Amino acid sequence: TEKTMDKVVSLCKNRGFVYAGSEIYGGLSNSWDYGPLGVEFKNNVKRAWWKKFVQESPYNVGLDSAILMNPQVWVASGHVGGFSDPLMDCKDCKTRHRADKLIEEQTDVAPNGWSDQQMMDFIKEKGIKCPDCGSTNFTDIRKFNLMFKTFQGVTEDAKSELYLRPETAQGIFVNFANIQRTTRRKLPFGVSQIGKSFRNEITPGNFIFRIREFEQMELEFFCKPGTDLEWFTYWKDYCHKFLLDLGIKDENLRLRDHEQEELSHYSNATTDIEFMFPFGWGELWGVADRTDFDLGQHMKHSGKSLEYFDPETNERYIPYVIEPSLGADRVALAFLCEAYDEEQVGEKDTRVVMRLHPALAPYKACVLPLSKKLSEQATAVFSDLAGHFMVDYDDAGSIGKRYRRQDEIGTPLCITYDFDSVEDGCVTVRDRDTMEQTRMPIANLVSYIEEKIAF
Ligand code: ATP
Repeated sequence: TEKTMDKVVSLCKNRGFVYAGSEIYGGLSNSWDYGPLGVEFKNNVKRAWWKKFVQESPYNVGLDSAILMNPQVWVASGHVGGFSDPLMDCKDCKTRHRADKLIEEQTDVAPNGWSDQQMMDFIKEKGIKCPDCGSTNFTDIRKFNLMFKTFQGVTEDAKSELYLRPETAQGIFVNFANIQRTTRRKLPFGVSQIGKSFRNEITPGNFIFRIREFEQMELEFFCKPGTDLEWFTYWKDYCHKFLLDLGIKDENLRLRDHEQEELSHYSNATTDIEFMFPFGWGELWGVADRTDFDLGQHMKHSGKSLEYFDPETNERYIPYVIEPSLGADRVALAFLCEAYDEEQVGEKDTRVVMRLHPALAPYKACVLPLSKKLSEQATAVFSDLAGHFMVDYDDAGSIGKRYRRQDEIGTPLCITYDFDSVEDGCVTVRDRDTMEQTRMPIANLVSYIEEKIAF
């Protein structure tokens, strides 16, 4: 399984999905750049999410709020006071660890909401070891705030200090009243947003699983108090289905409900949707019923009313909120791990296939002229398709080799233009997964591909 991870990472680097950041300068630790295939793939992931969480949802609208916000936002949200990781150092090898992660990894207990003392006691009691040297000798827990600081304007004093947002959610909460008023929405309704977030993670790693600059896809769904648990279940199922529909196998998913003691004080229910990565279970999607905590905090700190007037009951109340929060990079990694396959073909031959859902594949098809003599006609087919989809064109090497190159990057269809094509206006379409070949008119290609990539 470690091997699978190495293979996915090296395929990503070699084929242009993901490169190490600032590589020619020796890199910047745990930063990654999405290459030509990676940007297409990740855009497709985000597009799929937007389609389901905005376009097709009768309830939700979109937003694109600023990364830099008034610092009071982070006081109200609790990030200034409380957004810190419980750090401990191994006294023997001096490696730094997150106490909560040590507990999770070695006991499968999730210490959410525990005090530092509780964690330290538990670590001692269970004999939890330093993963690097095996020692059970740790320092006490220290807190470290995860927000990146920067300055606005020409002075670098405390008054001009700002934070890079550590989540996109707060941009939604502070715009709640604007959105409700301008869209004239009645409850329930939701606001979806995709954007960069920044966290100065202590233990980044596992490729793009935990990084310091990442993208989130968050929905804040506002509803009437008392209806929140129903909506919580609705969105949890909706998220689960989203992953299944895009090709994640149910056996690689686990919905982990937080126990009463594990819940944040303001949460009525929380479920983590976890994926079996090659390195173990990891959280993909946090789905939480956050009650009126966030809007309530912003009301208190801003002095502005964020209450909703319910025209049906003539009541005024602070809406409750359901928050499904997903990392774009993290779910992209899950799709890549799920898709990676090595298939035995023939006696001594294997092929690497990225079995990505066609909606997510960077290229939907590749046009292959059988001979360079056919490049003019094949280019015309390419140009026509390129008006509709991302398509590739490859005329280098044997057809077999070209098929394999496309298999490896997940292209669902290869379209071969041969000498008969000139006469009959047909091409041979080869399917990535079944390797079956079908002859079809060039005129049918667009609708055929459209059907193939539907999601
Ligand atoms: P973790 O326990 O893994 O640190 P979290 O519980 O702090 O995650 P949330 O604050 O709930 O995560 O963030 C919501 C989602 O954002 C996560 O489920 C994950 O998909 C994504 N995410 C959070 N931190 C990172 C990161 N450092 N790199 C990539 N994705 C992240």
